[in-house]
Amino acid sequence: MSESYPDVVLVTGAAAGMGANHARALAAAGSHVAVADVADASDVVGAIAAAGGSASAHELDVTDAAAWARVVDEVRGEHGEIGGLVNNAGISRRLAFLDTPDDVWELTMRINLFGPFYGMKAVAPSMRANGGGSIVNISSISGQIGYFSPAYSSSKWGLTGLSKAAAGNFAEWGVRVNSVHPGLVGTALLEGSDGFVRSAVDSIPLGRMATVDEVTDAVLFLLSDRSTYMTGSEVTVDGGLVSNGLYHRIVQESGGSL
Ligand code: NAD
Repeated sequence: MSESYPDVVLVTGAAAGMGANHARALAAAGSHVAVADVADASDVVGAIAAAGGSASAHELDVTDAAAWARVVDEVRGEHGEIGGLVNNAGISRRLAFLDTPDDVWELTMRINLFGPFYGMKAVAPSMRANGGGSIVNISSISGQIGYFSPAYSSSKWGLTGLSKAAAGNFAEWGVRVNSVHPGLVGTALLEGSDGFVRSAVDSIPLGRMATVDEVTDAVLFLLSDRSTYMTGSEVTVDGGLVSNGLYHRIVQESGGSL
């Protein structure tokens, strides 16, 4: 079965990590990818061009609504209407409740929650003009279950809800909005947390972290015409951690005495 992707897709936080992988895969599938990041995205754009794909780099701080307007105008003017948006940019500070300073709370909310809000507001008119589109918001399993770090968890729960609100609002224009909820994926986001990761893997029924490609596959599916009846959905990519992690660990630690 073949699938098709939007002609133009904007991916935030795409200079590194999972966003860069989504960008490379989309370009390989034939989309023009607007690679947007606060960091320099020219390496990713260069690699895409070298592989025969089409991409453009855009400096974008997702917390800045005016910058969103500028970047969306640039992309529409130079490459045409935007049919796909991946709100991927995000930060994580693993801090317990009473150790979370106000500035970390605020910055995490601004990047992880305000960013996608501004992004969807900026891009929805282009999708409407395009006759429809697909938006994928990268939440987390921390936006589906209780998680110890309040800023990250609240921002990702907020994004889960924001995705459903947008899905309801935009459906009449043929614009679908879904959220993806990765478990543990080995990127810079997890740097410096080896003990946390080792212990977390013990609760993952599939026994390992996700590869970046496994998350990219879910994102591309939601952008493609293979998911045309999906909107407002949560797609969890976590090796079974949310659904079965608790009893997986209990059974392991009980030494098999069921
Ligand atoms: P990463 O740290 O490797 O990359 C994040 C990218 O976002 C970087 O290129 C960074 O420059 C960019 N960015 C940061 N602030 C920005 C801003 N204000 N404006 C624009 N770009 C900005 O992270 P990753 O692991 O690839 O994570 C991607 C997404 O997946 C994030 O939303 C993250 O919360 C989510 N996620 C990650 C994991 C994981 O285990 N790595 C698990 C669940 C969810």
